[in-house]
Amino acid sequence: MSECVFCKIANGEISSKKVFEDDNFFAIKDIHPISEGHALVISKKHFETILDFPISMGPELISTIKEVSLKVMKEVGATGFNIVQNNFPDSGQLVPHLHFHIIPRKKDDGVKLN
Ligand code: AMP
Ligand code: ZN
Repeated sequence: MSECVFCKIANGEISSKKVFEDDNFFAIKDIHPISEGHALVISKKHFETILDFPISMGPELISTIKEVSLKVMKEVGATGFNIVQNNFPDSGQLVPHLHFHIIPRKKDDGVKLN
Protein backbone atom coordinates (compact mmCIF):
# COMPACT_ATOMS: atom_id res chain seq x y z
CA MET A 1 0.00 0.00 0.00
CA SER A 2 2.84 2.34 -0.95
CA GLU A 3 0.55 5.20 -2.01
CA CYS A 4 -1.74 5.13 1.01
CA VAL A 5 -1.46 8.33 3.06
CA PHE A 6 -2.40 6.64 6.35
CA CYS A 7 0.09 3.80 5.75
CA LYS A 8 2.73 6.49 5.15
CA ILE A 9 1.81 8.16 8.44
CA ALA A 10 1.80 4.76 10.19
CA ASN A 11 5.32 3.94 9.02
CA GLY A 12 6.71 7.45 9.56
CA GLU A 13 7.12 8.43 5.88
CA ILE A 14 4.79 11.38 6.51
CA SER A 15 5.22 13.19 9.80
CA SER A 16 2.22 13.68 12.07
CA LYS A 17 1.35 14.74 15.57
CA LYS A 18 0.02 11.57 17.16
CA VAL A 19 -2.42 12.00 20.02
CA PHE A 20 -2.43 8.25 20.76
CA GLU A 21 -0.45 5.16 19.75
CA ASP A 22 -0.34 1.50 20.71
CA ASP A 23 0.55 -1.74 18.88
CA ASN A 24 -2.38 -1.76 16.46
CA PHE A 25 -3.82 1.78 16.32
CA PHE A 26 -2.81 5.40 16.34
CA ALA A 27 -4.74 8.66 16.41
CA ILE A 28 -3.94 12.02 14.81
CA LYS A 29 -5.71 15.35 14.45
CA ASP A 30 -7.61 15.70 11.16
CA ILE A 31 -5.95 18.25 8.84
CA HIS A 32 -9.39 19.65 7.93
CA PRO A 33 -11.18 19.59 11.29
CA ILE A 34 -14.95 20.02 11.30
CA SER A 35 -14.86 20.82 15.00
CA GLU A 36 -12.13 21.81 17.43
CA GLY A 37 -10.20 18.66 18.39
CA HIS A 38 -11.45 16.52 15.45
CA ALA A 39 -9.26 13.40 15.52
CA LEU A 40 -8.93 10.21 13.52
CA VAL A 41 -8.42 6.76 15.05
CA ILE A 42 -6.54 4.74 12.42
CA SER A 43 -5.54 1.07 12.26
CA LYS A 44 -1.80 0.58 11.71
CA LYS A 45 -2.50 -2.26 9.31
CA HIS A 46 -4.08 -1.39 5.97
CA PHE A 47 -7.73 -2.45 5.93
CA GLU A 48 -9.82 -0.71 3.25
CA THR A 49 -13.12 -0.71 5.12
CA ILE A 50 -14.64 -2.08 8.30
CA LEU A 51 -15.66 -5.17 6.32
CA ASP A 52 -11.98 -6.19 6.19
CA PHE A 53 -11.37 -5.59 9.89
CA PRO A 54 -11.02 -8.72 12.10
CA ILE A 55 -13.76 -9.12 14.70
CA SER A 56 -11.11 -10.27 17.18
CA MET A 57 -9.68 -6.73 17.23
CA GLY A 58 -13.07 -5.22 18.10
CA PRO A 59 -12.55 -4.84 21.87
CA GLU A 60 -9.18 -3.12 21.39
CA LEU A 61 -10.71 -0.80 18.80
CA ILE A 62 -13.57 0.21 21.11
CA SER A 63 -11.15 0.75 23.96
CA THR A 64 -8.96 2.97 21.73
CA ILE A 65 -11.95 4.97 20.48
CA LYS A 66 -13.07 5.54 24.09
CA GLU A 67 -9.61 6.64 25.21
CA VAL A 68 -9.04 9.01 22.29
CA SER A 69 -12.57 10.45 22.56
CA LEU A 70 -12.12 11.24 26.26
CA LYS A 71 -8.70 12.76 25.61
CA VAL A 72 -9.76 15.13 22.81
CA MET A 73 -13.02 16.06 24.55
CA LYS A 74 -11.13 17.01 27.68
CA GLU A 75 -8.56 18.94 25.66
CA VAL A 76 -11.17 21.20 24.04
CA GLY A 77 -13.81 21.22 26.79
CA ALA A 78 -16.36 19.36 24.69
CA THR A 79 -19.61 18.07 26.18
CA GLY A 80 -20.37 15.50 23.50
CA PHE A 81 -18.83 13.74 20.53
CA ASN A 82 -19.75 11.96 17.31
CA ILE A 83 -18.06 8.88 15.88
CA VAL A 84 -18.22 8.84 12.07
CA GLN A 85 -16.85 6.08 9.87
CA ASN A 86 -17.20 6.03 6.07
CA ASN A 87 -16.96 2.93 3.89
CA PHE A 88 -16.33 3.14 0.12
CA PRO A 89 -16.31 6.30 -2.01
CA ASP A 90 -20.09 6.55 -2.37
CA SER A 91 -20.36 7.02 1.42
CA GLY A 92 -17.79 9.83 1.28
CA GLN A 93 -14.70 7.75 2.11
CA LEU A 94 -11.75 9.72 0.72
CA VAL A 95 -8.91 7.73 2.27
CA PRO A 96 -9.32 3.98 1.60
CA HIS A 97 -7.70 2.93 4.88
CA LEU A 98 -9.90 2.17 7.89
CA HIS A 99 -10.35 5.14 10.22
CA PHE A 100 -12.86 6.55 12.66
CA HIS A 101 -13.60 10.26 13.00
CA ILE A 102 -13.89 11.46 16.60
CA ILE A 103 -15.70 14.79 16.45
CA PRO A 104 -15.92 16.65 19.77
CA ARG A 105 -19.13 18.64 20.18
CA LYS A 106 -20.41 21.51 22.26
CA LYS A 107 -23.95 22.76 22.80
CA ASP A 108 -25.23 24.76 19.80
CA ASP A 109 -21.85 24.51 18.02
CA GLY A 110 -23.46 24.54 14.57
CA VAL A 111 -21.37 21.58 13.36
CA LYS A 112 -23.02 19.78 10.44
CA LEU A 113 -22.08 16.17 9.72
CA ASN A 114 -22.03 15.29 6.03
P1 AMP B 1 -12.89 10.09 4.95
O1 AMP B 1 -13.80 10.90 4.07
O2 AMP B 1 -13.63 9.41 6.08
O3 AMP B 1 -12.02 9.13 4.16
O4 AMP B 1 -11.96 11.15 5.65
C1 AMP B 1 -10.58 11.24 5.49
C2 AMP B 1 -10.11 12.31 6.42
O5 AMP B 1 -8.69 12.28 6.47
C3 AMP B 1 -10.50 13.74 6.00
O6 AMP B 1 -11.25 14.36 7.04
C4 AMP B 1 -9.15 14.43 5.78
O7 AMP B 1 -9.16 15.78 6.22
C5 AMP B 1 -8.22 13.58 6.62
N1 AMP B 1 -6.82 13.57 6.19
C6 AMP B 1 -6.34 13.30 4.97
N2 AMP B 1 -4.99 13.35 4.96
C7 AMP B 1 -4.60 13.65 6.22
C8 AMP B 1 -3.33 13.84 6.87
N3 AMP B 1 -2.17 13.75 6.20
N4 AMP B 1 -3.33 14.16 8.18
C9 AMP B 1 -4.50 14.28 8.88
N5 AMP B 1 -5.72 14.08 8.32
C10 AMP B 1 -5.78 13.78 7.02
ZN1 ZN C 1 -3.12 2.22 4.14
